[in-house]
Amino acid sequence: MNYISIENISILVYKSLRAKHIALKQKTAGQIVLIVPKYCPVWMATSFAKSQRAWIIAHATHPPKQTTFAPNMIIEIMGQSLTLAQGKPTHIANGTLYLSGDIQFFHRRTCDYAKKMLLPFMQQEVARLTTILGVHAGRITLRNTSSRWGSCSSNHSLSFCWKIAFAPIHVIQYLVAHEVAHLVHMNHSSDFWNLVDQLTPYRKEAEKWLKTNGQKLQGIV
Ligand SMILES: [Zn+2]
Repeated sequence: MNYISIENISILVYKSLRAKHIALKQKTAGQIVLIVPKYCPVWMATSFAKSQRAWIIAHATHPPKQTTFAPNMIIEIMGQSLTLAQGKPTHIANGTLYLSGDIQFFHRRTCDYAKKMLLPFMQQEVARLTTILGVHAGRITLRNTSSRWGSCSSNHSLSFCWKIAFAPIHVIQYLVAHEVAHLVHMNHSSDFWNLVDQLTPYRKEAEKWLKTNGQKLQGIV
């Protein structure tokens, strides 16, 4: 799943087998989608989007709402439904996540806790999948990215957007499978997608979830 950013507006780049031209569309949820023919180079698609700045700004009428975590909210972290509350020490009990500290830091403490839950899971998943493939992964880091959910560098280190902690587990598993598959294929060829499908049964479902909820997830800042 790739995003580009024009004027701070995140645009979903969708590679289409059928598309003959580059086109911009606005989805009902407000997400702007750049439809790109499969073999069109990225620079060409990006420069097209840049040339359409005025259209993009005019159509970005539904900027992503910002989510701020507060006590009594019910949220999902790593697929676990949790009610947020203030309390010492920071811990989970009976479906409630108690967070210590001043109320003004409540949102940030929630995000920090989610990251703390996410990282060991990612490390475990990467270890599991790289063992299956017999490949080696480098460092795994969580980052604050608004354009990509994950990336794999040439030195085999993997990074993921920490906000995926608030996505369902099958989505997180898919994103790990996607980046681990890049350790073998540094492209999005059919061999790559076949490998992703060997590592996870959730690709279609996860991509659909991200298409519908990705914007909302990015609204967590
Ligand atoms: Zn990829």
